[in-house]
Amino acid sequence: MDDAIDPNAPSLDEQLENIRFEPHVADRIGVSFNDFETVRDFLKIGWDQAMDVACDLETLNKTELISEIETSLTHLVDYQALLHDQKTIMTDLATRIRHQQPVNNLPAQYDQKWEQARRVYEAKSAKTKYYSNPQFVEFKQAVWDIKHPDEPMPALGSDDEDDDLVVGRTKQSYICPITQLTLEEPYMGSVCRHHYSKEAIHALIRRNHGRVECPVSGCRQRLSMSAADLVPDVMLARKLARMAAMAETQDTSGYHDID
Ligand SMILES: [Zn+2]
Repeated sequence: MDDAIDPNAPSLDEQLENIRFEPHVADRIGVSFNDFETVRDFLKIGWDQAMDVACDLETLNKTELISEIETSLTHLVDYQALLHDQKTIMTDLATRIRHQQPVNNLPAQYDQKWEQARRVYEAKSAKTKYYSNPQFVEFKQAVWDIKHPDEPMPALGSDDEDDDLVVGRTKQSYICPITQLTLEEPYMGSVCRHHYSKEAIHALIRRNHGRVECPVSGCRQRLSMSAADLVPDVMLARKLARMAAMAETQDTSGYHDID
């Protein structure tokens, strides 16, 4: 008999069942969220670059290559959802530890919640997963606008799926409601998502002592210099730059499609 093994010692599972975490352990879970943010920032950079490349390809009529990018972006959407689910589960567990609620067998609880979240995600239709994703819609819209600058984008997805209809975004205005000229350095209302030229909206806010109603007629949203109210729209700025570059090509060299 090996006397190092105590027959009455609890098994690993029993030990895990009976662990009580000190509240400060929750802080360590919190630290790992910073890593999530870093990964998410990297994904965003990759996303923006994919969008630029796709718009260039559309200009060059290389449609088949765009669908490859689109497929990659659906994987990116899946990956973002996966990160989001993991963060939600860990936040929930951290909160319970912080409030000294019992969290028995932490790894098992994590696995169980994780499996459940995956099942819910995988049961979703393509429409729900991708065509309701604002970034994915933004991508489709940017590519669409290359060839159809004056036409609203049709609804995304086929008609045979019977869940909620996802409508295409209505035609975007490139005119600043204040200057009545093409937007320059576009800024966007964080809540109402209306656009204005940077100089014009900043001057308007200053003239009104720091707070002003959105200048789009019918919109009552209050705007200030705070990022909670007003943010630069980098995506739209890139789109406008692309449109300007295309217009220039057409003007100077009699641009024609080459098939
Ligand atoms: Zn507005």
